[in-house]
Amino acid sequence: AVLKQFFSGKGAKRMPLIPLRDTVVFPRVAVPVIVRRDKSIKALEEGMKHGKIVALVAQHDENATDPSAGQLHKVATVAHVREVVKQEDGSVRMLVEGVARAHIKEIASKEPYLVARLEPMPDASANKSERTEALMFSVLNQFRRVVNMGANVPFDVLLVILNVTEPALMADLVAANLEMTVDEKQDVLEAETAEKKLEAVNAALNRQVKLLQMASKIQADTGKELDKMQREVFLREQMKSIEKELDTLGGKGSEDELKTRIEKAGLPPAAKEKALKEYDRMKAMPSFSPELSYVRTYLEWLSDLPWDKKDESNVDIALARKVLDEDHDGLVKVKERILEYLAVQKLVGKIRGPILCFVGPPGTGKTSLGKSIARALGRKFHRVSLGGVRDEAEIRGHRRTYVGALPGRIIQGLAGVKTKNPVFMLDEIDKVGTDVLRGDPASALLEALDPEQNNAFSDHYLELPFDLSDVLFVTTANMLDTIPPALRDRMEVIEFPGYTEEEKLKIARHHLLPKAMKDNGLAPRACVFEDAAVRAVIGSYTREAGVRDLERNLAAICRKVAKREAEEGDTKGERGKGRKSGKRGSKVAKRDQVVILATDIAKYLGPAKFSDSMKEEKDEVGAVTGLAWTEAGGDILTIEAARMPGKGELILTGHLGQVMQESARAAYSYARTVAAENGVIDAFYKDSDIHLHVPSGAIPKDGPSAGLAMATALISLLTGRKVRKDICMTGEITLRGKALEIGGVKEKVLAAHRAGITTVIMPAANKKDIVDVPREARRALTFVFVKHMDEVLSAALTDGAGAKAAAAGARAAKKTGKKAARRSRKTASPIKRKPAPRRAKPSKKRR
Ligand code: ADP
Repeated sequence: AVLKQFFSGKGAKRMPLIPLRDTVVFPRVAVPVIVRRDKSIKALEEGMKHGKIVALVAQHDENATDPSAGQLHKVATVAHVREVVKQEDGSVRMLVEGVARAHIKEIASKEPYLVARLEPMPDASANKSERTEALMFSVLNQFRRVVNMGANVPFDVLLVILNVTEPALMADLVAANLEMTVDEKQDVLEAETAEKKLEAVNAALNRQVKLLQMASKIQADTGKELDKMQREVFLREQMKSIEKELDTLGGKGSEDELKTRIEKAGLPPAAKEKALKEYDRMKAMPSFSPELSYVRTYLEWLSDLPWDKKDESNVDIALARKVLDEDHDGLVKVKERILEYLAVQKLVGKIRGPILCFVGPPGTGKTSLGKSIARALGRKFHRVSLGGVRDEAEIRGHRRTYVGALPGRIIQGLAGVKTKNPVFMLDEIDKVGTDVLRGDPASALLEALDPEQNNAFSDHYLELPFDLSDVLFVTTANMLDTIPPALRDRMEVIEFPGYTEEEKLKIARHHLLPKAMKDNGLAPRACVFEDAAVRAVIGSYTREAGVRDLERNLAAICRKVAKREAEEGDTKGERGKGRKSGKRGSKVAKRDQVVILATDIAKYLGPAKFSDSMKEEKDEVGAVTGLAWTEAGGDILTIEAARMPGKGELILTGHLGQVMQESARAAYSYARTVAAENGVIDAFYKDSDIHLHVPSGAIPKDGPSAGLAMATALISLLTGRKVRKDICMTGEITLRGKALEIGGVKEKVLAAHRAGITTVIMPAANKKDIVDVPREARRALTFVFVKHMDEVLSAALTDGAGAKAAAAGARAAKKTGKKAARRSRKTASPIKRKPAPRRAKPSKKRR
């Protein structure tokens, strides 16, 4: 009735309107539609009340939730609602059958649902021309192709379409049942004539055919790829069964051998269980699996580790003492400390105490003493250098999932020595870096070293705890400052201060020379070094706390001797074929013994590298010898002061660190105060610059301990009094000239001793440190302990030149007419003559 009314009356009729997002409803075609929006459901309810008729229209804009008139197409379909099913989620599923097209004249109201004023549209006119026939033929043809190529069309629909004879209906049916865009469908709906409808469908089908062709090509290509893979899998399976066959023919395979190894490795029960499980997993893997080799490597690592293999180790203190003494000269305190440590181990059974840490400059025997301990205990020795390690994984290993993963260095080391109780040396523990991104190696180290927790050290690669409590860890470092505090806390520090000349001589005689001769193929008596010769090498070719350079230089001499021997041997061999008498032979041998004298050294090693004594340098104005502490032990350095015309600036050069620069300023201020008190008026500074320079580029220069020396250099410059060259000094200065305590006394004093200095000035507060200085150096040196700069000046400055300078100062003062300068004749006013600062020249004089 409603429909009749709709079509009969004239003008537009009002009707509830439902907007559709993704489809178009065609006249005479039934389709299911789902209605979700509240407004649409209300419109549907309204339609159901009035003859089950609603109008449906496609949206222009698919995304509009509450479309306005502009977002809707202009042609709607009036439809008959056949079925309505309310879904659980609140939406409504309905089956509609299109009745007729209608123009939307306007949207009459928007709330509570859309109401449109509609004007019925006539059916698409159909005059069966030839063109229409041809189009129908083409549409059918293409439709068939599309279906053949896999388009999804229900069978009954297919039958209907194939049998349709009416052109407009055919177009509508095809459009409704194929995948076409909403716009394409709407075009079909709106077309005025059947012919136009068919044309629109034809174009859409054309596009569809192309799409399907492309899709099937892509599929064909993928199919080929798949075939190849299947073939490969098949071949590999075949290979595997062949391998199996061969295995049964040839007896036990290598995999079974691995199993025995795992069983014999002495793993703790839990670990063994895990290992065997992994083994079973590996057995089950296809032979081409990439994981297979990973698991295999893992199991090999597990079976290589010394889970329960220990070296028999009896601590015999007397024997240990003998071995340590045999291998090393000197180091009395160090050896004593190590023997105590071993004695405790003997009593307790296992050491649960702190870890040993050997601290000292390079070449002082830290590593070789570690080897000696291993020898004394009858254990294996393993050394790992930690210098530059920044990655936690280097200590603790990579996780197994990581490509190319390996256990950490500690586990690797143990697998290498094959016992679980070696002496394990961790070298350069002070050089371990930290990198936020790569974990903290120090904490991994701590876990390995800490006796409280190292009986279950977890390596990321192993994934099983390993007991490190039998390992005797010894660490070495050049300095303590950079060792992470948590580690330092757990370590017992044993200092290796460096050697005196006497000690070096002994070490050279007993260890370095025999070794150098042997290494260079010389018989034990082939070459004899005079004591003075060794001393010459120590004093003029090396300046170090340890004995590395000494060892190198002695080896160089031996090498040259060996080379000469070899050359002479060749010529002798040609000449002396007749001389076979034993008597003559032995005489020749004796004559062949090479004696190395002090005077020969330059022949072997070239010109001396260091002057062996500061005593022989001349005293100078404005140049003071200071003492520095470095990682390589102590060193001496010269501090120079100079004055030149300028604007009263203080120039500091020589790569001084921040603290040292501040210390220089303090020394400068102090020197100015002193000068002013002594009548050297300030005008002096106004027209001159003062330059403080510390040469020796290789020595890192920072810290406050050069304060006294810098102040002395400045005051020497201002007063014109010379500084004694046989004196050196170290100590911090305050603005009022007080001397403050400094560190590194032992190393500094040894350096002064090496350099041939006679007197060392240092703060009184450092008196306590002198007991640590080796006796030989202590005896050879005079120490002046000072509390104030005054004492430094009276010890370090000479007087002879002072008088002359004072006179010069007086003359200068007269010339410029400065009253203050005249007042005191004793202290010199600025002298115009500036002594050129000189560097220490190497002297070839030898003792
Ligand atoms: P470090 O580990 O402290 O850098 P090394 O242990 O490598 O030093 O020692 C360097 C060389 O000096 C080694 O050949 C070592 O045998 C030798 N050496 C050092 N100190 C002594 C000593 N007291 N007695 C014998 N040889 C020594």
